[in-house]
Amino acid sequence: MVAAPPGECLKSNASCGTPAELTRCKCPQAAIPPWRKPYYSAPTRSGGLSGTLACAGEAALTFPSAPNGKQHGEAKLSQQRMLAALGGARAEGLCPVPVEVRLGGGGYVLGEETALINAIHGYRSEPLARPPFPAVSGLNAQPTVINNAETLANLPDIVRNGADWFRSVGTAETPGTKLVSLAGDVRQPGLYEVPLGTPLSDILNVWGGGVQGALKAVLAGGPSGSILPAALADTSLDVKPLQDLGGVLGAGGIVALNSSRCAVEMVRGLVAYNARESCGKCTPCREGTVRVRQLFDALVQGKAGASDVETLDYLSDILAYASLCGLGQMAPNPVRALLRHFGEEVREHLNGECRAQVCHERD
Ligand code: SF4
Repeated sequence: MVAAPPGECLKSNASCGTPAELTRCKCPQAAIPPWRKPYYSAPTRSGGLSGTLACAGEAALTFPSAPNGKQHGEAKLSQQRMLAALGGARAEGLCPVPVEVRLGGGGYVLGEETALINAIHGYRSEPLARPPFPAVSGLNAQPTVINNAETLANLPDIVRNGADWFRSVGTAETPGTKLVSLAGDVRQPGLYEVPLGTPLSDILNVWGGGVQGALKAVLAGGPSGSILPAALADTSLDVKPLQDLGGVLGAGGIVALNSSRCAVEMVRGLVAYNARESCGKCTPCREGTVRVRQLFDALVQGKAGASDVETLDYLSDILAYASLCGLGQMAPNPVRALLRHFGEEVREHLNGECRAQVCHERD
C-alpha cells in the first residue's frame, strides 16, 4: 500500500509548487489521486480550537474513544497527538480557552450526541430523548456544539482559503471531501480522503488499486449502510444517492466483496454488530436487533423458513419507526438492502444452499 507521510506530496514530480499539504492538490500529473492523506493531520487537531473560537465558546473538549474500553491503540495514539499539539499551541500563546482531551470508553452509540454527553458526564452511554437539544442544554446543562473531528478538521483550511475554495470540489449539494475507510477485497485498503460525488467504483479501482477477483458487491456506510450489487457500483459517494438506495454515507466505511463472499453472511456480520452495540435503553432496538441476529444465524445455518424472511421485514419496520436513536432506526438498512438486491441468494439459503459455499457449516 502506498501511504503518504504527513505533509509529503505523493507524486514523484513535486515541481507544481503545490504547498506541502496534500489536501486539494490539483496537479494533473499526479499518478496517484492527490486527495488521499493520513487521518491524523495537523488541521484535525487545530480544527476543534477554531470551532470553539468561532462559536465564542468557553472551553473545548475532544473525546477519542477506545473500543471496548481498552485504554490503548488508536484512541491512545490520538490522545497523545492531541496533547502534544495542544502543548505546542499553548507554548505559542495560541490557546486562549481551556481545552481538555478525555479518553472515552468507546461504543458505536457514542456517535449519537446525547449519548456522548452522558458518557462525558460519567453515566452510561445512552441517548436521551430530545428536546432539549444539546445546542440549548448539553454538557453541564450549557449550550454545547458537537462535531466530529473530521468536520472540524476542515475549518482551518476554509478560514485560510475561503468558502469558494472549499466548494470547488465535491458536488453542488454536498461540497468538500470525505474520509473513506476502504477495506475488503481491494489491493490497497486504507483511509483515504475522497471528493464527495466520486463513484464508488473509482474509489475501489483508483484509490483502492482495483478489486481482487470479480466484484460482487459493495458495503457502503458501515453497519447502518447498504449492500449494493456490482451493477450499482457507479453510485456516487454522496448523501442523497446512497439514501435513495436505502443506505447512508455514515462514517465512510466502504468494503469491496468479490465473488467468493456470501452476501447473507456479510450482512449477518453487520446485524450481529448492531445487536452487540445496542445500548439496550429502548425495547424495539434492545430486543429487535437480537431477534434479527438470531434469524440471520438461522439463515446461514440453513434452518430458516420463508416466514422468517417475513419476520425480518416486519422487524425492520418496527426498528426503523420505534427505536429511540439512529442506531436502532438504521439497523434495518443492510437487511432491507439484502432483501432488495440479493433476494435470490436469500432464497437459496432457505433451501440450504450457499453459492459462495461459506454458510451451513456451523451447527
Ligand atoms: S435505539 Fe438502540 S442504541 Fe438507541 S437508545 Fe434505543 S437501544 Fe439504545
